[in-house]
Amino acid sequence: MEGKRTDQPDPGGSMGQRIFQFLKESGEDEADVRLLSREEEEDQEERQDPLRCKACGNEITEADFGIHRHGRFEHTFDNPAGYTFRLGCFSKAWNCILHGVPTHAFTWFPGFRWRFCSCGRCGLHLGWHYDSGAESFFGLILDNLVRQSQSH
Ligand SMILES: [Zn+2]
Repeated sequence: MEGKRTDQPDPGGSMGQRIFQFLKESGEDEADVRLLSREEEEDQEERQDPLRCKACGNEITEADFGIHRHGRFEHTFDNPAGYTFRLGCFSKAWNCILHGVPTHAFTWFPGFRWRFCSCGRCGLHLGWHYDSGAESFFGLILDNLVRQSQSH
């Protein structure tokens, strides 16, 4: 579900790099790129069950922020380029970058426009941010998130 397609097949695992390359090529306005940070008061809350970028370990969200959309947390979608994604819906995410011009094109959630969401540290494509104007949420690729192992 990328805004534009390239003719090159995905070599696998480099989706984030491809997106940054795409941004570079499309000359996207820097003002359209937004880095999300966790609010400070939330930072002091006890970490419950962090979910991290599978590539670099950057904390992205918590399992507690999982929400239901269309009655389910987990959704499976195919994008026009033929890739299948398993998404989890989250009310919040942080340490990630939102980029791209919000669009309804090929949206998986009617009424919501989407932007890309990538890891703020390594650039791995983590999913999409959806915004209807009245509400917003994240659809994150579950296969690109890892759960922090409980060490105690
Ligand atoms: Zn990362």
